[in-house]
Amino acid sequence: MATDVHESINKTKVLIIGAGISGISAAEFMAKNGFTDFKILEASNRTGGRIWTYELDGKGINVEMGANWIHGIERNPIFQIADSNGLLQLRYKDKGLRHKNVFLTETGQEVNQKTVKDVDFSYGLLIQQCEEFYQMELYAPYDSVGEYMHYEIEEKLENLSDDERKLREMIFDQHLKQETVVSGCNDLNDVSLGEFGCYEELPGVHYTIPPGFQSVLDILLNQVPENNILLEHSVKCIHWGNNENDGRVLVECENGKKFSAEHVIVTCSLGVLKASCDRMFEPPLPKEKKESIEKLGFGIVDRLNLYFDEPIVDADIFRVELLWDDHQYKDNVRNPTDLATSWFRKIYSFEAVHSNDFPSLYCSSVVGSLTN
Ligand SMILES: Cc1cc2nc3c(=O)[nH]c(=O)nc-3n(C[C@H](O)[C@H](O)[C@H](O)COP(=O)(O)OP(=O)(O)OC[C@H]3O[C@@H](n4cnc5c(N)ncnc54)[C@H](O)[C@@H]3O)c2cc1C
Repeated sequence: MATDVHESINKTKVLIIGAGISGISAAEFMAKNGFTDFKILEASNRTGGRIWTYELDGKGINVEMGANWIHGIERNPIFQIADSNGLLQLRYKDKGLRHKNVFLTETGQEVNQKTVKDVDFSYGLLIQQCEEFYQMELYAPYDSVGEYMHYEIEEKLENLSDDERKLREMIFDQHLKQETVVSGCNDLNDVSLGEFGCYEELPGVHYTIPPGFQSVLDILLNQVPENNILLEHSVKCIHWGNNENDGRVLVECENGKKFSAEHVIVTCSLGVLKASCDRMFEPPLPKEKKESIEKLGFGIVDRLNLYFDEPIVDADIFRVELLWDDHQYKDNVRNPTDLATSWFRKIYSFEAVHSNDFPSLYCSSVVGSLTN
């Protein structure tokens, strides 16, 4: 007997797995075209996934726990939604926001701008070279971006005095930590040098969204019937590609609920697929899909928000770049890789958030296995 006639199985034409912006966008597209025979199954108790605007208790201040920036404007659908709905209306005021970046050592010393600019320039050229291996189909002399950077930076530092070398090394390290966040990897040794340049950055400036990234999601959610979203429905197994269910896909949730659909759109992150695709698909995904999932890297990026009772830096400062002397730390500490005592050394900068309105809120991103 075909399982989809079983009473306990909910039937729908399309199932979307995951209510992050990918799943919500797919739902919005269908709904605005008059098609509502779909359900979204979401594992957690909220929509948004890696977009999460969070209100600080009792302060009326929104902080981003996930995505924060619109990276570039040309061909960027997020920019188009935010701009056409007036979410960026405050941007002209941005000219009045803080703009100065300061580089501080562990002892609170500010590094002179000339050295910073010098290292910035060299680093920019190195990153450009990394991109060119892919873009110009050149032979990549090392496997990873990390190895290439290590050797190239070492060459730039080798004839300097001890003090100058240490200072420049710390600035290079700060840039490398930032690059791990941009690349979403735990370590630049995990990033392929030959493929690094295939990442395409959309042209145009970067914006934050003053009312919060959630407001973009809300615009899409307005089109989606509320009853079509089922929270706390973590998908356990997707039975597909067999004729037992009249060619329909049968989806089983951890809470025991079952759904059958003609089409399933899976929007779980690559991280989820890496961890669970073997047990999530029955029959297993084709070999080439599994290989792609295995070979693509997926790191951890966390966001830190710090709220102080009053501003901790001068009003014109937008970013505080942190220069850690990690080499000395490694020499002086018994267990330098112990995250419990050294996790904060991964923070490479703090940035003022909506600085005119809330001058004492700062955010930063950190990468790696901190959440372990
Ligand atoms: C800290 C951080 C900062 C970021 N900053 C930026 C930024 O500034 N700008 C930018 O453009 N991007 C940024 N990103 C990336 C951006 O947030 C993501 O690319 C985007 O939100 C991904 O959306 P998605 O819908 O594809 O996936 P997700 O948001 O991961 O949504 C997938 C959904 O699937 C659900 N799910 C997973 N497994 C199951 C299951 N078995 N059953 C049911 N549901 C399941 C999850 O709970 C989740 O809700 C950042 C990400 C992080 C983590």
